[in-house]
Amino acid sequence: MSSRQSVSGANRLILLGPPGAGKGTQAKTLAGRLDVPHVASGDLFRHHQQQGTPLGVKALDYMTQGMLVPDEITIAMVLERILPPLAQNGFLLDGFPRNLIQAESLDQALAGRGLAITKTILIKVPVDELVTRLSGRLVCRQCQTPYHRETTPPKTPDVCDSCGGELYQRQDDAPEAIRTRIQVYEDETQPLVEYYHRDNCLAEVDGVGEVDEICCRLLQALQVE
Ligand code: AMP
Repeated sequence: MSSRQSVSGANRLILLGPPGAGKGTQAKTLAGRLDVPHVASGDLFRHHQQQGTPLGVKALDYMTQGMLVPDEITIAMVLERILPPLAQNGFLLDGFPRNLIQAESLDQALAGRGLAITKTILIKVPVDELVTRLSGRLVCRQCQTPYHRETTPPKTPDVCDSCGGELYQRQDDAPEAIRTRIQVYEDETQPLVEYYHRDNCLAEVDGVGEVDEICCRLLQALQVE
């Protein structure tokens, strides 16, 4: 058994990949298929902001600029959502960890409960495709479903097909913030590929293609029929 194999049979998964790789879109489907909660650190921050909590206020400037929110805030916020008994049957992380400190903190917190990450999947997409995707992206304020102005527009302009919520462009999908976020990914998050490779728990999936097609690749990587 590898050092990262599940000891309890639950799926404790990470979706890794640059901003715009489609982690959020795929995570929604995968979490449903695997019956685990989808925990997206960016969505948690945005929820705090909608609620006007102190944590949301602290995170806002970093997010608007496309910078990482400080680790102590982020790690506590995510761990609170995934440690048992809350996520007893596992979880699917999206957007966390984003640097080595976060990855090590996550491993330590799980190891303290006799648990480990079971699989990390890297979704790979070329940079020019990421910029195109992010600059045309619209997101539902209520359910976070993403759309694209040209490739996947909603049926009614600015209205979410799923829940009727209002669609908006995220402030960090502005050109300057997109550049920063991609740079931050390359500097801070990319080293995690090597980190998870070392324990043989990383699979790489091509993130270019139709949404359903990419979902099949992910399910294959997770060995789910
Ligand atoms: P996302 O929705 O994953 O693109 O995240 C939006 C923004 O939230 C990021 O650009 C960061 O400012 C912040 N954020 C999300 N996850 C993390 C994380 N794991 N560590 C630090 N900042 C984060």
